[in-house]
Amino acid sequence: MYDSEQRWRAVDGYLATTLVDEDEALVAARTSARDAGLPAYEVAPNQGALLALLARLGGARRVLEIGTLAGYSTIWLARAVEHVTTIELDPGYAELAERNLAAAGVADRVELLVGAAVDRLAELVARGGPAYDLVFIDADKPNNPAYLAAALRLTRPGSLIIADNVVRDGAVVDPDCPDDRVRGVREFLELVRADPRLEATALQTVGVKGWDGFALVLVR
Ligand code: SAM
Repeated sequence: MYDSEQRWRAVDGYLATTLVDEDEALVAARTSARDAGLPAYEVAPNQGALLALLARLGGARRVLEIGTLAGYSTIWLARAVEHVTTIELDPGYAELAERNLAAAGVADRVELLVGAAVDRLAELVARGGPAYDLVFIDADKPNNPAYLAAALRLTRPGSLIIADNVVRDGAVVDPDCPDDRVRGVREFLELVRADPRLEATALQTVGVKGWDGFALVLVR
């Protein structure tokens, strides 16, 4: 008999093998991260496919990703659009990501910036390049409010901002939660709600990544 977490995993496995085209390069990106001792923080295969699908659905050409890890979600996104800028704090993770992006054949479409995302984002704002059509926020959650502020300076009306891990095993409902990641997520959601430029929803997810969720934010 399954408990619910085993069932979520089994269903994710079924959906991924039935619908999701995870090729050798994507599998290698995941397994290389485990082999190098990186945490299993990458999105699940069906979630990577969702990111790519949302990018295509919105006709996105340029994506900004905050939080690269080993480049798993970056590969999904880079295969859906013309350009991805991705930011990673850890130089060792970034090196591994570079190798995975090259092996996946998308290195020429990806600019990987190394360092604290708040600093790299400030540089992108100062650089004043073309707007990003989609922003995927998936790094340190206490900084989510700062990432939202930067995303609003780097996008245009019609852009989509996606934030991962907004449910956190249900902890998001607790206004007194001492975990600064939960506080960062709650503040992010409250800032989105208070901003008349934004239209948003969030969805809970269960599966190989446990119980969590995505926020989807449209810049009006
Ligand atoms: N998006 C990746 C994927 O799905 O394959 C997973 C990213 S993982 C959840 C979060 C990443 O953010 C980690 O690699 C971590 O090193 C990075 N990170 C944490 N704090 C950061 C910061 N202040 N600036 C930039 N990256 C940071």
